[in-house]
Amino acid sequence: MFLAVLLVPIGWSAERAHVTILATTDVHAHLNPIDYYTNQPDQTGLAKAATIIAAARRQNPDLLLLDSGDTIQGTPLAYYHNRKNNQPPDPTVLAMNALRYDAMTVGNHEYNHGLKVLEKARGEATFPWLSANTYRVGTDQTAYQPYLVKLVGGVRVGILGLTTPGVPYWDNPENYAGLEFREPVAEAKKWVHLLHAREKVDLVVIAMHMGLEEDLRTGIPTPNLIPSENTALAIARQVPGIDVILMGHTHREVPALFANGVLLTQADKWADRVARVDVYLEKSGDAGWRVDAKSALTIPVTEKIAPDPVIVKLAEPYDRETQAWLGKTIGESSRELTADDARVRDTAILDLIQRVQLDAGRADVSMASSLNLGARLPKGPVTVRDMAGLYVYENTLVVIEATGAVVKAALEHSAKYFRPYEPGKSPAELFDERIPAYNFDVAEGVSYDLDLARPV
Ligand SMILES: [Zn+2]
Ligand SMILES: [Zn+2]
Repeated sequence: MFLAVLLVPIGWSAERAHVTILATTDVHAHLNPIDYYTNQPDQTGLAKAATIIAAARRQNPDLLLLDSGDTIQGTPLAYYHNRKNNQPPDPTVLAMNALRYDAMTVGNHEYNHGLKVLEKARGEATFPWLSANTYRVGTDQTAYQPYLVKLVGGVRVGILGLTTPGVPYWDNPENYAGLEFREPVAEAKKWVHLLHAREKVDLVVIAMHMGLEEDLRTGIPTPNLIPSENTALAIARQVPGIDVILMGHTHREVPALFANGVLLTQADKWADRVARVDVYLEKSGDAGWRVDAKSALTIPVTEKIAPDPVIVKLAEPYDRETQAWLGKTIGESSRELTADDARVRDTAILDLIQRVQLDAGRADVSMASSLNLGARLPKGPVTVRDMAGLYVYENTLVVIEATGAVVKAALEHSAKYFRPYEPGKSPAELFDERIPAYNFDVAEGVSYDLDLARPV
């Protein structure tokens, strides 16, 4: 025995393992490579991502396939399914079942159509929906499975799900009734410790519905964050024992980033990319697996990638009813209306929205954001598709009673969207692009001036 050990060179005696992880995030119900608002081809969607996934599976059948959430909402196809015909199985979940996802983390947009729609879709999934920081109010009981342990090539991999705690800031209270979303850094500490101590995992992967919270060049926090909305860096820096973080929520592409030895990656949005992580491990003697090297990259969905026929076929009935609905004529416009200037002057297209809101809400003042500067209503018949393109989020119209001071404060808030005025600057240069357009409202029913020479 002693001799045998001596005869084997050290480098050869180590056992090796390779774990491949594929990850999507913020798929937002993108299945077919089409933009429903324009009816034009679009290089997004699980049908094309499926081809990338299949190629990786041929190479390594034992890979992990994970998603970081915002899954069942986001296209007219999902809207039609969630609001108008929720009888059949959820189309995105069906596609993910077919692709054999191992787990998905719950995103904030899962709540948009209420808990009934969410729970139905979750019940149809053949993979667990994870969230370790979502609890039944006032208890220590998590509302979802917090983590999943999988044996991959002999390596015990712990996959932890974390959800942005921002849900109550964005959704109607009945859509998350009975649930609370706890601060993710402390939760990560608790669960990562448990994965190592109790579950004896070799590798810890966090699929989080959160992204980077600061500009890494300056250290300045991303503006307009709600508390702990994104805590990927805080978790990488403060929680020991994490190997890989699969980010989401911010709709950004992050091919590979190391922070405190943790590898972070993010696959943008709408399944326009698949993130791939490779972890190489080795062990010698009785010691456990040790990570030797790890890398990540994002693989884009391109024109050259063919859609997977299985996903296309499965999406077909949903696509057909969506297209029939989008094609319906609901009005007529005597001229073409565009939104190019909607952020700097009165435009007919936004006035139309304001008039509808004032009328439906029987309100004195209407606030609306000019969300899509590319929106247009054609001269002639106007379809559901044209109207849907004005607002790509399914927001709910809400009427509140407010004082003039509240209206003024809301307008001051919107004024933050503009940079301080300097003579000679074009209107396009006046916007602070770090502030999302949906945080900037235009008001109707009051008249007001924004003095851009006096920054807020
Ligand atoms: Zn999203
Ligand atoms: Zn999100």
